[in-house]
Amino acid sequence: RSSLCEVVGVYLKEKYNKQAWLFRIHGTRFVLVFNKPKEQENALNEIKERFKGQWLANGEDYKLNVLIFYFTDTYQKPHTQAFIDYVATLDKEVDSITVNGPIKITEESIAKAREKNNILKLLQKVLQTNNGEMCMYYQPIYNIKKQQFTKAEALIRLKDPELGFIRPDVFIPIAEANGLADKIDEFALISACKVLRENKDIKEISINVSCTDFFENPCQKYLDITDKYEIDPSRISFEITETAAIKYPDKIQSFMKKMVNNKFKFYLDDYGTGYSNLAQLIDKPFACIKIDKELLSEEDKVKIVLKSSVELFHSINLPVTIEGVETEEQKNIYRDLGCDAIQGYFYSKPLPEDEFIT
Ligand code: C2E
Ligand code: CA
Ligand code: CA
Repeated sequence: RSSLCEVVGVYLKEKYNKQAWLFRIHGTRFVLVFNKPKEQENALNEIKERFKGQWLANGEDYKLNVLIFYFTDTYQKPHTQAFIDYVATLDKEVDSITVNGPIKITEESIAKAREKNNILKLLQKVLQTNNGEMCMYYQPIYNIKKQQFTKAEALIRLKDPELGFIRPDVFIPIAEANGLADKIDEFALISACKVLRENKDIKEISINVSCTDFFENPCQKYLDITDKYEIDPSRISFEITETAAIKYPDKIQSFMKKMVNNKFKFYLDDYGTGYSNLAQLIDKPFACIKIDKELLSEEDKVKIVLKSSVELFHSINLPVTIEGVETEEQKNIYRDLGCDAIQGYFYSKPLPEDEFIT
């Protein structure tokens, strides 16, 4: 009776006569690294196919979960810390379907993984003890009918003492992949509550939330926070993206319902960037639609589509905010198209808290 590692090891030795490394991550999760696959492309494909099948070891059948890498002698050795970090990063990103790869290892991909790891470490540290590296900026949103700023969007900022500002679209996905998104959203909510408590004339702040949060149904957690800071939940809205809203329809539906029953609001963020399933979106209790800045265009065709989108949402009583408006000309266009509110550098950039409240 041979162990799983032995069985796989013997098979690999037979099939592949160049350098190869086999790592067992845990249970049936393996990482395989090949060197010089160019000369043995067929062997590599055969091996990949073989891993889709079963393995007999210890008198039992196993189906393995393998991540296959290869490099062509340019790269060092796969047992360096840099490589291990790289595997760890990919291990979290690649869905656990049975066979993944072959993925080419390059200096560049290793460097990228190292950077991701540094950001992850910074996030973990900052979520433990935040010395101001993580903070919220606020971008005022202009209401056209009322001719004043009535709301603001909270946007997170992360500053590394050495690397400088790290963009949220870079570190939020890392937080999501590592189960830290809920902590970040909590941080955003608490920061927003503090601002709202000190500034009664700010009616509402919206925060961006990750869809990975909703599995936990954090409604009660959010209520505890608004309670603690004595903020009426109607002053908080949550921006969720199209993609998130339709990714986990059942989870989202029950979570949203509970939240809305408690007076929280939802905005549909980045409208127009995904492949909208209108039936699914309209079915959800959104209080506002935010049109993404990517959709802004001077082209007549785009304007016609936007105009009828705005009309469509108005016909079901949904106000529309447009984001990313930078010039006076754009502002006039979207006002004339019927948008209810405008967000963008034309009115204000996202501001640090002290500048925002004055
Ligand atoms: P988003 O939700 O679409 O946020 C709008 C982005 O557009 C912000 O980028 C904002 O700074 C930028 N923006 C606003 N006005 C203009 C303009 O006139 N021109 C241009 N070019 N850009 C403008 P930012 O702050 O870099 O955030 C990027 C994305 O990161 C956000 O996109 C959001 O998806 C995510 N994000 C930001 N803060 C948080 C957060 O606290 N939690 C979560 N989960 N995600 C966040
Ligand atoms: Ca947003
Ligand atoms: Ca957007």
